[in-house]
Amino acid sequence: MKLSLIPFPEKIEYLKGFTNAGAKTEIISDRSVDKEGFIIDINGGVTIRASSDAGIFYAQKALGQIKFQCGQNLQNVHIEDSPRYRYRAFMIDSCRHFVSVKEIKKMIEYCALLRFSVFHWHLSDDQGWRPELEEMPELVEIGSVRYENHFGREQNEKIHAGFYTKAQMKDIINFAHERHMTVVPQIDMPGHSSALLKAVPSLVCGDKKVEIKTSPGIFKDIICAGNEKNYETLFRILDGICEIFTDEYVHIGGDEVPKNQWTECPNCQERIKNEGLKNEEELQGYFINRIAGYLASKGKKAITWNESLKSGILDENITVQMWMDPKKLCNKSPNRMIASDFYHYYVDYPYAMTPLKKVYNYEPIINGNVIGIDTPVWTEYIYDFGRMEYMCFPRFIAAAQTAWSKNKPAYSQFKNELKELMPYFGIKNAAKPDEWDPPAYSRIFGIIKHFGAVSPNKIVRNIFKATPHNYCRADVP
Ligand SMILES: [Zn+2]
Repeated sequence: MKLSLIPFPEKIEYLKGFTNAGAKTEIISDRSVDKEGFIIDINGGVTIRASSDAGIFYAQKALGQIKFQCGQNLQNVHIEDSPRYRYRAFMIDSCRHFVSVKEIKKMIEYCALLRFSVFHWHLSDDQGWRPELEEMPELVEIGSVRYENHFGREQNEKIHAGFYTKAQMKDIINFAHERHMTVVPQIDMPGHSSALLKAVPSLVCGDKKVEIKTSPGIFKDIICAGNEKNYETLFRILDGICEIFTDEYVHIGGDEVPKNQWTECPNCQERIKNEGLKNEEELQGYFINRIAGYLASKGKKAITWNESLKSGILDENITVQMWMDPKKLCNKSPNRMIASDFYHYYVDYPYAMTPLKKVYNYEPIINGNVIGIDTPVWTEYIYDFGRMEYMCFPRFIAAAQTAWSKNKPAYSQFKNELKELMPYFGIKNAAKPDEWDPPAYSRIFGIIKHFGAVSPNKIVRNIFKATPHNYCRADVP
């Protein structure tokens, strides 16, 4: 019988006959196999060859898919597989809407089946600070609570709060490690930092009081890059983060940083002058380089969003995550690159805008420095876990395929195999096959409906609320 396997294997040879599913699986250590790769032989018995625990783990997941399809009689087969990229990440935003420990673990479990190797955890933003650091209790005491919500259909004066204790974060990290996944914490700076600025007002640029934001957007309140004491404070925060998060990368943000306050701030202007910088963009380069330099002194590698490349002075050792790069600065950058394209990997946008086929057919090649991919789910309009499942699945499955397989089959084949395997993945609220690729005529309407339903304007929201449309069914909380 023909097998459906996702991600699609590098090599598969069908052999005659079947093997009883009860046969013992023999595991052979084979140093010639790629460090995340594996060889499976089903032919009278079941043998896995791998050079690492990760390889064995991935082989067992592939075997799980075979058993799911074959039942008692396993199709005899020879499979060889190894990943296209080492860095295969998915991102969860815990800031706009808090995501519980149980829900994070569920997402990690799903993603382990897809051989994701990195959980990128977005832990701080304008709307909330989530990691508890023992040395600085004010971060969660003040930064993790907001008293109003203005996120699309969620308009209320309810408290939205939540943070992770050190023990909870350690628990999640261990849970990920057991599934051969590393964890990259993201502390967003110098922009997207209102919750941090509310908790630690000395970091603010200019003389103003910053509030935790209660709606989505890009905000002018940013960390002062001129004040020398701020670097000490940020290093202290990163000390706390690095004590908890022991893997190699820390993401330090750098996206969507309006420079208005830096232009007006005497400290920032003095810094520009004293460091011989040309402008505020170069000041961002200086800021990110200094933070990354501190992390490097602790044996960590920094990741920044692609906007930091605009400075022209970004340290070449910093990894750049490309999400939106209209000037194509990433293409000629010498930095290591993570492909995270907004139009293909941002699964918090509706299927009408980013159909499954678009994710699957994407080639994550920016230049020769790409180390992998990252597919994010931002939570401005994700009010509950069911909606997160709906938005992520099966698009995360297609993204995983772009990261793993060197020779992925045509989309039609993937789609058929996926239909076969969806029950195996066990995702309760995944989108249904007729929702994966909305027909062209309805896509524009689906996009309008999405943006209408999340509009800040009540009248507009109500118009779209009254319009039934199955490509946006999860818009209704
Ligand atoms: Zn300043």
